[in-house]
Order: sequence, then C-alpha cells, then structure tokens
Amino acid sequence: MTILGIETSCDETAAAVLDGEGHVLANVISSQHTVHERFGGVVPELASRAHIQNVDHVTRRALDAAGLTWQDLGAIAVTQGPGLAGALLVGISYAKSLAYALGIPLVGVSHLEGHIASAWIDRPSFPRTCVVLIASGGHTHLFHADESGGLRLMGRTIDDAAGEAFDKGAQMLGLGYPGGPLIDQAARKGNPVTVRFPRSRVRTGQLDFSFSGLKTALLYHLQRMDQQAITRQQADLAAGYQEAIVDVLIRQTFAAVRQAGVSALAVVGGVSANSRLRARLTERAGEEGIELGLPALSYCTDNAAMIAAAGQRALEQGRLASFECEAMPNCALPASSGGGTVRRK
Ligand code: ATP
Ligand code: MG
Ligand code: FE
Repeated sequence: MTILGIETSCDETAAAVLDGEGHVLANVISSQHTVHERFGGVVPELASRAHIQNVDHVTRRALDAAGLTWQDLGAIAVTQGPGLAGALLVGISYAKSLAYALGIPLVGVSHLEGHIASAWIDRPSFPRTCVVLIASGGHTHLFHADESGGLRLMGRTIDDAAGEAFDKGAQMLGLGYPGGPLIDQAARKGNPVTVRFPRSRVRTGQLDFSFSGLKTALLYHLQRMDQQAITRQQADLAAGYQEAIVDVLIRQTFAAVRQAGVSALAVVGGVSANSRLRARLTERAGEEGIELGLPALSYCTDNAAMIAAAGQRALEQGRLASFECEAMPNCALPASSGGGTVRRK
C-alpha cells in the first residue's frame, strides 16, 4: 500500500512517499538549521512555528516528486515521539486532518522505530535478526532485534548521546552547529593520533556507553591552550575527538554482536552518517564476516522515508491505525502500543 510519512519531531520538517513494495518514491526534507544556528541549538517554539509554515508545502512537494495525487495514498504514518511536544503536534494534527479528509488509515510510530526501519530501506533482504546501534542526537542504544521485530535493549548511554558529544565538541572547538558533520569534515584534514582523548568504560553494564568524560577531557584540554593554538590545531583536535567517539561505538557494538551471537549489524541514526565511523564499521564487519546494514546518507539523519517504512511495517504486523494517536514527547518504542521509555528486558 502506498504510504505517506510525516516527521516533525525536532528541527526537520519531512515528508516521504513509499510504494507498496517499500521503494522510496519521494523523500523531501526541509531543515531548520538556519533558524536555530545562531542559538547554538534547537529553540522549541521556533521549531513549532517553522513546522507550521512548512509541513503542507513539504508534503505537497513529496507528492509531486512521487508523481502521485492525494487519492493515490493508501495510508499515512506520523511520528508520535520522542521529540518536542509542540513540534510533534504540528505533524500529528496535519496527518490526522489529511487522513480524515482522505478516508485512509493513520498510524503513529516512534521516531526510533523509524531510525531502525531505515536499515531496511533499499535493502529488504537484510536479516531481521541482528544487532542494531542507534547513534543519534538523543540516543545511543544497542538492541538485539529478532525475526518478529521484537527488540531487546542490550546497552545504552548513561549520559550524553554520541550525537550530543559531536555537537558539544564542535561548539567547544568553535566549529558551529550542528556539530557532527562539521567535525567529520574538519577531521578529514587532521591526524587522529596527535591528541589522544579517553575512551570511557562503564561498569554498570558491560554494553553501556558514556561520553560525558570525553567532553570534559576536551574542555580541560582546550583550557590549557590559547585561541591561536586551538585554531591552528582544530583539525587534529577534531580528528582525535572523533576517533575517541568512534572507538567506543565500535568496541561496544562489536561486543554486542558477539554477545548476541548474530551475523548481522545495522547502524542507524544521524551519527551513522559519519564518514570515519562508516569506514571503520565496514572494515571491522569485513574482518569479522558480519553483514553490515548502513542506511544511505539521506536516511541517516531525520527523514520521513524511515517513518513511512516503520508505518508500513507496523501495519503489516497488525498494529491498528487510529485517529486517537497523540503526541508522546517521551515515548520510545513503539509509540502506538503505549510508548514508554526503553527498558531492559
Ligand atoms: P533522536 O533521533 O535521538 O531523537 P535527532 O533526531 O535530533 O535525535 P538525528 O537527526 O537522528 O538526531 O541525528 C542528528 C545528530 O547526528 C546530531 O547530533 C548530529 O551532529 C549528528 N550527525 C549528523 N551527521 C553527522 C556526521 N557526519 N558525523 C557525526 N555526527 C553526525
Ligand atoms: Mg535534526
Ligand atoms: Fe532522529
């Protein structure tokens, strides 16, 4: 069934259309980075306003790009959470009115289900049983996914998310916002071993992550340098900092793969766009004979194709579409079965 996905959980207004086989017919993303960059982070009220201004336009562009009309749509999927309450409400209200007017089912999905589903876009035969690492702006979670789509939490960050570590590091290095892509770029010109930052280990859970110590290490390191030296060494600092994040992600993820005894690994979320992480994952997966599922770059950071894909999967698995779907700013997985935070099973 042709499905429209709508995503407004944070600072991207996105709409996408997938055909009945899960092929992406259109994937439109309107980023609000220029709205928020002078504040160094996302301002919730401004995000909601920008979504209101953009959501209809972005959706119509997606439909046009897919070469379809409203009547061709069979269902709508929308992000229920987690995210900013006001921002989520814009997408949900819009999706509800559209589904009501067209007389088609509406399914609410979790943004995390979306990121996870992105691993199978354009790669439908990727194994369902695998380890999934979500590394994004708000999450660094390892799951063991089973054949039926069930997810068991194996490890998570106990403080900052990997994307947050990139963003905060970039800010300290004077690179700007959002930091991930800027560190990625700067690091290409730097040497990752010139400055060595700590690789934290967490005692609470063998597969948990911690990035706050790394952030503090960078802060202390920079405090001992003058501005000129920081500017001169920016590329080496970015490369060293990035390498510490990548090392920890690789170490914990491959430990999870071993522990789960699976032969496939999916890595999703904004940080999976990182060129160094992609290269290191590809190399290590090759050495260990692990099948690696990395989404195309356009499906790593927030997009609506992943929301449509998650919606399609939810409907296939018998989840009921409902107009009762509400914003769930703190939900994790899955939104329409009550949401809730991620817990270890
Ligand atoms: P969540 O998905 O956890 O709710 P989010 O939606 O804000 O949070 P994403 O859009 O999935 O997060 O990812 C954004 C994050 O990814 C940001 O922290 C950004 O810095 C990071 N990121 C994007 N591109 C890169 C890159 N090339 N290298 C490293 N980090 C990156
Ligand atoms: Mg974003
Ligand atoms: Fe996201």
